[in-house]
Amino acid sequence: MRKKIVAGNWKMNMTYDEGQKLTSEIVNMYKDEAIQDVAVVLNPPFPHIHPVKKLVGDTAGIYVGAQNCSDKEAGAFTGEVSAKILASFGVNYVILGHSERREYFKESNELLAAKVKQAIANGLTPIFCCGESLEIRTAGTHESNVKFQLTASLFDLSPEDFSKVVIAYEPIWAIGTGKTATADQAQEMHAALRRHIASKYGKEIANETSILYGGSANPGNAKELFSKPDVDGGLIGGASLKSRDFIDIVKSF
Ligand code: PEP
Repeated sequence: MRKKIVAGNWKMNMTYDEGQKLTSEIVNMYKDEAIQDVAVVLNPPFPHIHPVKKLVGDTAGIYVGAQNCSDKEAGAFTGEVSAKILASFGVNYVILGHSERREYFKESNELLAAKVKQAIANGLTPIFCCGESLEIRTAGTHESNVKFQLTASLFDLSPEDFSKVVIAYEPIWAIGTGKTATADQAQEMHAALRRHIASKYGKEIANETSILYGGSANPGNAKELFSKPDVDGGLIGGASLKSRDFIDIVKSF
């Protein structure tokens, strides 16, 4: 059975104290409310990783992720953080290919392919984001667009390595806009992605791949989104900064 995952993307938010408070609240609620069978991944900015990891401790089901990693192994790359360094701090996941990184930092499909390889080589699970702009959706080429993003950055992987990847479908027009894709739109795209994975890696691997939805998910719409057969959880931005909202999303399966 594929994993249910809810990952919080803090983006460039949270001071040290705010991050500690948010993490403690999430850990306590997760334990007190006896949440089971849903992996929670907290993806704070880099400086938070170590202290967040300490607060999470050995809480079963809660993991720490990063929002990016370098495509290089090591060396003179000022300001970069390698997958190897992240792994040495106990990081388990890394978000790659987020639309904000594609747009503002001009990350290409080729660069992302190299980052994915670094992540996997160092034991990190990539949460690989794909999604279309409003322009592409309006033109009706959204399905071919996301399929191409997968092909270009992931389909060089061996079946064994591909099995380590989590996909996040994030329509750009729904990120941070308050405009969520309908559950039917999400299901349609997740099913198309799963078929595309099956065409390359076979049905078994496709059925085991967790595909998360991201884009203005909140406690009010998560239940309907998560009820769809190909939606295996969420990548949550804004609502991951409020412990109650985030945990309510985690409890929406
Ligand atoms: C995101 O940035 O990955 C995201 C889904 O953001 P939001 O939930 O705020 O739309």
